[in-house]
Amino acid sequence: MLNVPSQAFPAPGSQQRVASQGRSKVPLKQGRSLMDWIRLTRSGKDLTGLKGRLIDVTEEELKTHNKKDDCWICIRGLVYNVSPYMEYHPGGEDELMRAAGADGTDLFNEVHRWVNYESMLKECLVGRMAMKPAVPKGMLPKSQVTDTLPKEGPSSPSYDWFQTESSVTIVIYTKQKNINLDSVVVDLQDDILRAEAVIKDHSYLIHIELSHEVQENISVRAIENVGKVDIVLQKRENIPWKCLGHPLGKHDSFIPKKDTGLYYRKCQLISKEDVTHDTRLFCLMLPPSTHLQVPVGQHVYLKLSVTGAEIVKPYTPVSESLLSDFKEPVLPPNKYIYFLIKIYPDGLLTPELDHLQIGDFVSVSSPEGNFKVSKLQDVEDLFLLAAGTGFTPMVNVLNYALTSMSSLRKAKLMFFNKTEDDIIWRCQLEKLALKDKRFDVEFVLSAPSSEWNGKQGHVSPALLSEFLQRSSENSRVFLCICGPTPFTDEGIRLLHDLNFSTDEIHGFTA
Ligand code: FAD
Ligand code: NAP
Repeated sequence: MLNVPSQAFPAPGSQQRVASQGRSKVPLKQGRSLMDWIRLTRSGKDLTGLKGRLIDVTEEELKTHNKKDDCWICIRGLVYNVSPYMEYHPGGEDELMRAAGADGTDLFNEVHRWVNYESMLKECLVGRMAMKPAVPKGMLPKSQVTDTLPKEGPSSPSYDWFQTESSVTIVIYTKQKNINLDSVVVDLQDDILRAEAVIKDHSYLIHIELSHEVQENISVRAIENVGKVDIVLQKRENIPWKCLGHPLGKHDSFIPKKDTGLYYRKCQLISKEDVTHDTRLFCLMLPPSTHLQVPVGQHVYLKLSVTGAEIVKPYTPVSESLLSDFKEPVLPPNKYIYFLIKIYPDGLLTPELDHLQIGDFVSVSSPEGNFKVSKLQDVEDLFLLAAGTGFTPMVNVLNYALTSMSSLRKAKLMFFNKTEDDIIWRCQLEKLALKDKRFDVEFVLSAPSSEWNGKQGHVSPALLSEFLQRSSENSRVFLCICGPTPFTDEGIRLLHDLNFSTDEIHGFTA
């Protein structure tokens, strides 16, 4: 490991030292405040000079980047190009230069280990040291097991691990920015650890029988935009581990997602509530040692044994409620997974799901699906067309749009059903429209009662052209459509006739 000799920091007499209060800050030039730095990091400017690529940095290479206008620093195994940050550093340029071209971990830990540098410097990330990552003081050395395992190709992720007296941390270096918690699924069962990181259309798998017992609670952290995922396990006994464990099938492999099988874990039914006469809201609890978050617009498969045969069907998880942002969460997040499921009395799986008792188990797969929230980037007008339970993917898309899309001006849902009684979450949709001026909903019924004075019929050019009004002539628009396959196919055809391009439309299908 690279190391700068341990020394007092800030150095006696340095500009960061003040007599009684610890560090002082140097005056920054105008336009060099923290907010200015944040603005610069969000400007899309290439701050590393590597055009978003992450590289493995050798010790020799690091040493050559030791000047103010070309200054790389290694902190905890990751290398940053801090030249663009020099003028924004509250401690001054000279303090940063003390670790130029070297490992600044010790200096950093002594001065401001609490600073969220991973977030502050995420756009300056060059890559990681092409050697064992830094082992923080007090941690035991890692075993050799991981070094003997094959790595596939330069862009394949890799992993490493370290331990403290009471915990073991497995670190996945995905070598991709923008990794987040819903890109990683972790299961721990009978001391077998299975962690899958989905990177673009590929899947990286860690599959190990651990050498020692661990407690069932795991925690997973993704260092967003840095491409690092930490999986923290708690040891059952506080003894040093000589190795992490034994590799199992497909361990350390990086293969196209489409070539991986479905992996299931058993989830317990916690509650089942009527939403309409034939649709229920199911709440399932994930096992305590599973980390699984379904990305917006993706689905999972539910598996049940029906008269001896395993039946599998896809379902799209939803948030507990469209209005959940406005009330205290009753249950802790990410441990529960909700489904709106329509029961078909003559269907194969749904009557069985309906007959489940609270406490029964259902197998739930890892997420699948080709919807990417990046499609919504910079979108101003979002149009959602749903029929029946085709509403389910719209729930999380709508939630995401209203809470996370700063560009959004308008989100409109056209919801097709047979009768008023079939409309899922009608009351919540109407409340949401009252609450959020950007959102609007229109219901269209194909078999309405005589009292219905709203829109009627099937998806048609007339209904669509009236509905698809942009907030401005050239606004950036995106459309999602989901329902019975013939509805979705017909809707997409009509949208093309109305001159929307393929890039502007996402049809949800199996
Ligand atoms: P099926 O046995 O499939 O029968 C359903 C209905 O079709 C019954 O009325 C049956 O009589 C009729 N039927 C069956 N076969 C035929 C046939 N050959 N000809 C004519 N009629 C037939 N559903 C939800 O409720 N919620 C969701 O969140 C959800 N998400 C989905 C996500 C995806 C990606 C996909 C593709 C589907 C989703 N579905 C969802 C639908 C779900 O997967 C099932 O198809 C649905 O629950 C019906 O399953 P079943 O086995 O009970 O019924
Ligand atoms: P439904 O109640 O039978 O139908 C909902 C509405 O769609 C009704 O108004 C119906 O009109 C209309 N419709 C049906 N077929 C049509 C067609 N060919 N053209 C135009 N309109 C049509 O729907 P459901 O039973 O809830 O079924 C929902 C479907 O969505 C299921 O097939 C499910 O698999 C699918 N789904 C897919 C996903 C996904 O891919 N991600 C997610 C969830 C659900 P009528 O009165 O004329 O029937």
